[in-house]
Amino acid sequence: MFEIYRECTFSASHQLRNYNGKCERLHGHNWRVRIHVTGEKLDKSGMLLDFHELDAIMKDAIDAFDHRHLNEVEPFLNDSPSSELLAKVLFEEVANRLPKDKQLNVKCCDVWENDASRARYYPG
Ligand SMILES: [Zn+2]
Repeated sequence: MFEIYRECTFSASHQLRNYNGKCERLHGHNWRVRIHVTGEKLDKSGMLLDFHELDAIMKDAIDAFDHRHLNEVEPFLNDSPSSELLAKVLFEEVANRLPKDKQLNVKCCDVWENDASRARYYPG
């Protein structure tokens, strides 16, 4: 198996729901997102997936959230926009955009609120 990852950043505000603490107040993060992609087959260039192609896929998935208030964007109109749920949403959005002919899988999605705090989603 081969595995690559790519990172992107974006800026957005959020307010946690059903939470007592300062994170229920409106605040923002420069979020860092890392997507790990795995597969068995390399293309004729010896690559699993061109990093630039993965970058474009990630930016397309992130576009709905960049410079937004996450609480005002689906699926966070009702769900709490936590790092954990954001990682799950971006995992699924990137997985849906991967080229179907390359037998690639998203292994996990990491979302950092800051250098000390990271959430990871992967299918159990
Ligand atoms: Zn926060």
